[in-house]
Amino acid sequence: MIEREQIEMDVLFVGAGPANLAAALHLKSEIKKHNEYVDSGRLPGSHIDDLEIAIIEKGSFVGAHILSGAVMDPIAIRELMPDFLEQGCPVDSVVTEDAFWYLTEKSSINAPIVPPPLKNKGKYIISLSKMCEWLAEKCEEAGINIFPEFPGADLIYDDNNAVIGVRTGDKGIGKDGKPKANFEAGVEIMAKVTVLGEGSRGSLAKQLISRLGLMDDKEPQVFSIGVKELWEVPAENFAEGRVVHTLGFPSDTDTYGGGWIYGMKNNVVSIGYVTGLDYKDPNIDPHLEFQKFKTHPKVAEVLKGGKMIKYGAKTINTSGFWTMPKLYADGVLIVGDSGSFLNGQRIKGIHMAMKSGMLAAETIVGAFEHQDFTAKTLKHFDEKVNLSWIYDELHPVRNFHASFQSGRWSALINSGLQFLTKGLAWGFMPKEHHIAGHERMEMLSGEGLPSVEERYGRVKIDKQLTFDKITDVYHAAVSHDEDQPSHLHVLDTEICATRCAEEYGNPCQRFCPAQVYEMEANPKTGRRELKVNFSNCVHCKTCDIADPYQIINWVTPEGGGGPNYKGM
Ligand code: SF4
Repeated sequence: MIEREQIEMDVLFVGAGPANLAAALHLKSEIKKHNEYVDSGRLPGSHIDDLEIAIIEKGSFVGAHILSGAVMDPIAIRELMPDFLEQGCPVDSVVTEDAFWYLTEKSSINAPIVPPPLKNKGKYIISLSKMCEWLAEKCEEAGINIFPEFPGADLIYDDNNAVIGVRTGDKGIGKDGKPKANFEAGVEIMAKVTVLGEGSRGSLAKQLISRLGLMDDKEPQVFSIGVKELWEVPAENFAEGRVVHTLGFPSDTDTYGGGWIYGMKNNVVSIGYVTGLDYKDPNIDPHLEFQKFKTHPKVAEVLKGGKMIKYGAKTINTSGFWTMPKLYADGVLIVGDSGSFLNGQRIKGIHMAMKSGMLAAETIVGAFEHQDFTAKTLKHFDEKVNLSWIYDELHPVRNFHASFQSGRWSALINSGLQFLTKGLAWGFMPKEHHIAGHERMEMLSGEGLPSVEERYGRVKIDKQLTFDKITDVYHAAVSHDEDQPSHLHVLDTEICATRCAEEYGNPCQRFCPAQVYEMEANPKTGRRELKVNFSNCVHCKTCDIADPYQIINWVTPEGGGGPNYKGM
C-alpha cells in the first residue's frame, strides 16, 4: 500500500484550459464581490474566508497541451476582464476579412456570402496555448496555486459516492510496473468542490460519467478531430487577419468535415482540417484528409514557398446541447469541452468554455455561502447555464451536428432551415438522433466504400507540402519517458488481431494522427498483432473515442509527458 501525502484545498480544478483558468479567476473576484456586498449590508449572510484554490495540469507547463484553431469570440473574456487587451492578453491579430470556399477536387467556389455563423470580422485570432499561459499568470497573481506535471489519475469518493478530491499520478514507475529509483507517489488533493475541465473526452470526466450515470437519458457525445499545422509563408500569400473556412474536398458527402486557414502575425498561417469522428468508412485517416486538403490547388497556393513549423491534433466535442452530461453531482462540476460546451455550427468553444467556468465559479460561491457542497446546491450550475447566453447560443443549433449524420446535402438544407427557425425545423422530429461515432463506423464489407488506394492513392507525401505522421509528430515536440507503463490501455488485444483485423482493418492505424498504433507480424507466429508506440501520443483522445469496440482506454501518463504546443 503506497503512503500518499494529503493536501487540503477548498476548490480543485483539474486541467488548466480556458474553462478552468477563467473559473478560478472569476471565483477569486466573485468571493471578493460577495464579501464587499456583505460588508456594505447589500447582502445578508457572512463572509467567505479566503479559499485555497488549486489548478492541476498534466502538461509540463500551462499551455503545453492546449491546441485550438483559433478564432476567439471575446464575449466571455470581456465579461471576465473588460480591459483584457490593456492587461496584456496575447491576441495575435484582429480578423479583418472572412471568406468561405466550397472546394471540389480541382476547383473552388468563393461564396459571395459568408454563412452568418462563420462571420468573424472583429474577433481575435489567438494562440490558445499562449492565452492560457497568460491566464495562468493572472491566476498566480491572484493567489491561485497552479501545479503543472500533476495529472489527475483518479477521483476520490466518499462512502456516498460524493467526490472529495483527486489522486494525482505516480512518477517514476518503470514499464514493468515497478517503482524506479526516482519514484514519487502521487498525492491526494482533497477538496470540497472539484471542477473537471479536462477538455474533450476528459479521462476523469469519463470515469465520473460512467460511475454516476451522468449520460443516462442523454444523447451520446459526438466528436471531431482537428489536425493542424502552423506555416511560415511568403508575405504576399495570405494576409494577416484573413480567415477562410472551407467545405467540400476532401471529405466525402457522408463525412462531416471542413478546413480553415487563418492569417496570423509575422507571415504565419494556422491551417487545419476537421474530420467528424462519426465517419462511416473505416479507411478514413484524418491526418491524410488534412494532407489531401493541402494539395487542393487553391490551398496549396497559400502554402507555396512556405515552411511548416509546428503540428498538433486534438479532438473537439461537436454535438452540443442534446449531448451535455448532467453537469453536477455531489462535490463535482463538469465544465468546458468535457461538458459539450462548444458550438459546432460556429466551430467555436473557447468563449463557451470560459463562460461555463465562470458560471461554475458563481455556483461555488453559493455553495461556500451555504456550506453545502452536495448536488442540491451545485445543481444551480445547470440553472445558471440555462439562463445564460450559452443556452441562447447552443439551443438554436441543437440539431446541427445530427443533421450532418444524414449526409452533407441534407445537412446543408437542414442547417439553413434550422438557422431560419432557430432549430425548430428539426425540433418537430424526435430528438434522439445523435449516434455515437464508433457506432456509425461500417465494416469493410460495407457496400460502396472506396478502397484506401481510391481514397488516398493520389496523395504523395513529399515532406514539403505534405508530411507523414512521424515527421508531423516531430513538429509537435512530443516527449514521454519510454520507461513507464503505456497510458493507452487496450483491454483485449486478441480482438485487434482477429475480429478487428477482419471486420474493420484495424482503423486505429489510420485514425490516430501520431502513428501510435501499428499492426506488426509476430516473428514467431507470423500473426499480425498490435504494437503501441505510446511515446508518440499527442493526447488527442481520438482512439478512446473512435475505436469501434470501445476497448481503448486513454489514461493520464506520467506528468509532464506529451506534446509541447507552446505558441500553437
Ligand atoms: Fe490520439 Fe490516441 Fe493516437 Fe494518442 S494514441 S495520439 S490519444 S489517437
